[in-house]
Amino acid sequence: MMGYDTLLFTGSDDWEMVVTALREERVVVTKDSQIMKRGVITSGRLKAVLITSDEPEQQMKQVIETLDLDCQFRPFSICLECNQPLVERSKEDVEKLVPPHVFQAQEQYVECPVCHRIYWKGTHWQAMTRKIENFMKKP
Ligand SMILES: [Zn+2]
Repeated sequence: MMGYDTLLFTGSDDWEMVVTALREERVVVTKDSQIMKRGVITSGRLKAVLITSDEPEQQMKQVIETLDLDCQFRPFSICLECNQPLVERSKEDVEKLVPPHVFQAQEQYVECPVCHRIYWKGTHWQAMTRKIENFMKKP
């Protein structure tokens, strides 16, 4: 949602996740405190964040604060489903693809090249962007 390249690890072998994270220079974001005890993480070789809250907004806030995520902040530049950079589409391109009330109201559209989902800067987009910006405001 914030425009960061992410990968959901769905396997059962933690080591596979660690190897992937090291190879692809990723940060592990987890609720599993056992993973945090691994040498590769305690030594600092692999960066990891142990999520403490069960509440999604608090989890997001913790990730933003811990990793100091603001330098690359590009909200909704990557498909939420496919992790692929979104491509700009003209209003004419999407006329048949979005609901008429959206077409009437919105000027800017982007499309996922993989799943072809169309995104637009509607009220949900605006609300989420505001929320994320608030999280990033330093006290
Ligand atoms: Zn997609």
